[in-house]
Amino acid sequence: MSTDPLGRLIIELSRLPGIGPKTATRLAHHLLRSSDDDARGLADAIIEVKEKLIHCSTCNAITAVDPCEICSDPDRDQTRICVVEEPFNIQPIERTHEYHGLYHALMGVLSPQRGIGPDQIDFRGLMSRLDGIQEIIVATNPNVEGEATALYLARLLRDKDILVSRLAFGLPIGADLEFVDEVTLARSMSGRRAV
Ligand SMILES: [Zn+2]
Repeated sequence: MSTDPLGRLIIELSRLPGIGPKTATRLAHHLLRSSDDDARGLADAIIEVKEKLIHCSTCNAITAVDPCEICSDPDRDQTRICVVEEPFNIQPIERTHEYHGLYHALMGVLSPQRGIGPDQIDFRGLMSRLDGIQEIIVATNPNVEGEATALYLARLLRDKDILVSRLAFGLPIGADLEFVDEVTLARSMSGRRAV
């Protein structure tokens, strides 16, 4: 660890996704110039997230209680699981009000290019939750990695008596579900089709 405080901050910031050394340097200097309150606010927010939030041990959603509110809600449809790539993909689907079942976040996608294989994705957790499940809705992103993951999942579930469906692609190819508008997302949920 660097003993130079500014150097250390730059190194820490450059570890964040999408932040290269140049941006990290710019952000570090920005923070150095900002008020004590602003800097402490950012630091506190980071610590609070780490201290108060966890991943649901059932579905991997981000939550303050385990199991999360969705998993522990008896009014949710207990026969459906919507499979997403990341916990932050759950909220956009919730906002469509088109879906009332359960979720499972895989914590990633298959990516031969990035060396990410099935062992690094939480398929195991999903497979342990199939009792009483009638439909698995695969809501991975409509890009190469998301499609590969959906196919792999469909193969895993082939011998089970479970309908496997995929969001309908009114979704633009290559889109990121995080940034798809609610109307499009709601339509792709209601028009989902069997894989
Ligand atoms: Zn949960």
